Amino acid sequence: MSKAISQVPMAVNEPVRSYAPGSAEVKSLLATYKAMWKEKAEIPMIINGKEVQSSEKVRLVSPQDHQHDFGFYYKGTMQDVDSAINTALEAKENWNNLGWEQRAAIFLKAADLLAGPYRDRLNAATMIGQSKNVHQAEIDSACEFIDFLRFNVEFMTEMYSEQPVSDEGIWNRTEYRPLEGFCFAVTPFNFTAIAGNLPTCMAMMGNVVVWKPSDKQILAAKVIMDILTEAGLPAGVINMIFTDGKETAEKVMAHPDFAGLHFTGSTSVFQGMWKMIGNNIHKFKTYPRIVGETGGKDFVVVHSSANVDAVATGLVRGAFEYQGQKCSAASRAYVPKSLWPKVKETMEAQLKTVKMGSPEDPSNFINAVISQGSFDKCKGYIERAEKSADSSVIMGGKCDDSRGWFVEPTVILTTNPNYESLCEEIFGPILTVYVYEDEKWSETLKLVDQTSPYSLTGAVFAQDRYAIAEAYKALENASGNFYINDKPTGAVVGQQPFGGARASGTNDKAGSKMNLMRWVSVRSIKETFVSPKDYKYPYLG
Ligand code: NAD
Repeated sequence: MSKAISQVPMAVNEPVRSYAPGSAEVKSLLATYKAMWKEKAEIPMIINGKEVQSSEKVRLVSPQDHQHDFGFYYKGTMQDVDSAINTALEAKENWNNLGWEQRAAIFLKAADLLAGPYRDRLNAATMIGQSKNVHQAEIDSACEFIDFLRFNVEFMTEMYSEQPVSDEGIWNRTEYRPLEGFCFAVTPFNFTAIAGNLPTCMAMMGNVVVWKPSDKQILAAKVIMDILTEAGLPAGVINMIFTDGKETAEKVMAHPDFAGLHFTGSTSVFQGMWKMIGNNIHKFKTYPRIVGETGGKDFVVVHSSANVDAVATGLVRGAFEYQGQKCSAASRAYVPKSLWPKVKETMEAQLKTVKMGSPEDPSNFINAVISQGSFDKCKGYIERAEKSADSSVIMGGKCDDSRGWFVEPTVILTTNPNYESLCEEIFGPILTVYVYEDEKWSETLKLVDQTSPYSLTGAVFAQDRYAIAEAYKALENASGNFYINDKPTGAVVGQQPFGGARASGTNDKAGSKMNLMRWVSVRSIKETFVSPKDYKYPYLG
């Protein structure tokens, strides 16, 4: 155990590389992309630090070219889930006994490995498997994940140093123990950084973890495990399995040692898991911690005093970057009648210059959506909007799945404030616009607040400070992350802690101390130096 009160290096946000055309960094990244595209990866599960194969091989296809399989993964069975749980529980004691500095060093080393030798590999894996362009891959799989690792180490030490006061003759201490049992991380396809953060932040706090990544993020998940292994993470602390989500959840959540769920994904899946936990509550040795960040229907509300170019740019970037597949993506906009013609014209002019295609060509702003299912869902909303009396498709709308799953950035205009695409999460490059009468600003704010069950991100655009203040108050509970004169995407670790409420999640703010608090169980310790030797208090005479 340590004989020093060590301080960790101060966390600073990882600088975002620009990947300017012709630069050495873009050449290096694209060379890695091309090499990995041809590699035909064979991706095993990792249980107890060992590669685990199975008899079922599943093809991995790239969203930008679904005929091209870049490899396969081994799909596991319920036996692998058992083995991952048992292994985690066996690793628990040694991991728990290791000093926090040793744990911190592993994750700080992982951050440095990712910032340096693994940067291209994780970015390229995210470009191939999840269809992110160079910039989207860089801000997610490199910078955000590096930030999560470094800032969480700093938050961990801040937490550990929070100690109670002590009266004379006693010493009070607070100990931040890991949860008793094992933890379960279930991660989505859309952010490599989230896939990395959910299991690692639990492990950083001394927990042992069973991690089930999305089957659409497996190439990058494999690189994450490679980095953690090279950083020295001991075998069994994080066990990565590729198994059926529902069956795995049923098995994990019936285990008496299940101690915590860290989930990011859709609302319905999270609610299903919460029900399972509730139904099994009598089986667990301890009440499990439940953290889930889920769906969104993120808004942009524009006041008549807003700057038109800022609004149009906020909408084009906020709605269409990464094909609208950020949980924070703008998907409904409320624009005053007086500004709409200019906003529309500016958006049209900007969208005319937008290129769509494979991330292999960095000049493509838009790439493919993640799957055939997602493509069909987007196409369905577009086709229904074209036919509906309430709405029309005014920009984009073309879909082409002949080679990859490409959906043009699409704007639907509706006159119905409850139109389906204004209320439901689509998770694709589709923005629905509702134009309101300028004098109905206050009513429109109410509409924004009440239109969907979600409360993840939202933005107001206005120059009038009274309008900003009114929106700030009226939309207090409409989003967990609120933006003023900026797009509702792009939260940065350590700067805008991220998470939503209502149907969008438990709002435990990934990348903050608030989140890490969920993965510890505090022990209060009181030590009395000179113990009383007689039961009689002075008042007894
Ligand atoms: P998803 O819910 O389909 O999958 C998430 C994870 O759950 C995957 O690992 C998947 O395999 C697993 N899973 C699927 N069905 C399951 C079941 N029945 N039981 C247990 N596990 C199951 O989500 P996705 O398509 O990967 O990601 C998109 C969703 O995630 C969107 O709804 C988006 O808003 C949300 N999201 C939210 C945030 C946030 O911070 N609020 C961030 C990213 C993504």
